[in-house]
Amino acid sequence: MSVVAIDQVHKRYGALEVLKGVSMRVETGQVVALIGRSGSGKSTMLRCINGLEAFQSGSIHAAGHQVEQDQAKLRALRKDVGIVFQSYNLFPHLTVGENIMLSPRITQGVSKADADILARKALERVGLADKFAVYPEMLSGGQQQRVAIARSLAMRPKVMLFDEVTSALDPELTGEVLLVIEELAREGMTMLLVTHEMNFARSVANITVFMHQGKIWEAGPSAELFANPQTPELQAFLSNGV
Ligand code: ADP
Ligand code: MG
Repeated sequence: MSVVAIDQVHKRYGALEVLKGVSMRVETGQVVALIGRSGSGKSTMLRCINGLEAFQSGSIHAAGHQVEQDQAKLRALRKDVGIVFQSYNLFPHLTVGENIMLSPRITQGVSKADADILARKALERVGLADKFAVYPEMLSGGQQQRVAIARSLAMRPKVMLFDEVTSALDPELTGEVLLVIEELAREGMTMLLVTHEMNFARSVANITVFMHQGKIWEAGPSAELFANPQTPELQAFLSNGV
């Protein structure tokens, strides 16, 4: 069953057409990696899926919701579709636990006691059970990003979107974040992730999708796509990143 179904989505910023008829699916339990050059439309695609950007035509269904720009519908959508960005933006004046409890409390009306339980469980899943009462500044960048993932998990999403979540981290800190995502994959979490980590995409994603100039240029099982890129554009991207 498709958790995310994108059909013929067109998205323009003024005269600039950024998504030129994108269609793709993410099935239950699948991990799909979205790769491509900077500016190819990857972030815009993710932002359209959880309604952070409107699009001009086409349709998106995610976690049982039709994506449309209606505040009540967007709230319901975002409960089920988690998104984690490169910048983790934790509140510095709140503890790790309080940061994670905030969304369930405010957007779902979860009681403080229940939010506490959700937050502790989420922290456990990212391997930071002992950091509940600590302030973000006490943590490394990698740990802060794991807290941001826990914050999203505490909403109990049906699908998670990741937009280059390791790109702002020093190389020695990316591994711990990728391991958390790998563990979520093992637990069966459905995920769509934009990444520059090609080894990670190849080894963890079931499907890899290559975007180029606002279109899906190539897509398929990761092992095949990386072993046998069909187009000169993907061949060039894989050999030198452009
Ligand atoms: P990627 O994530 O693949 O690097 P983006 O989706 O961020 O690509 O951007 C795709 C294109 O859309 C780029 O040309 C970018 O400059 C443009 N773009 C992104 N956001 C905006 C915006 N808010 N206003 C105008 N242009 C934008
Ligand atoms: Mg981007």
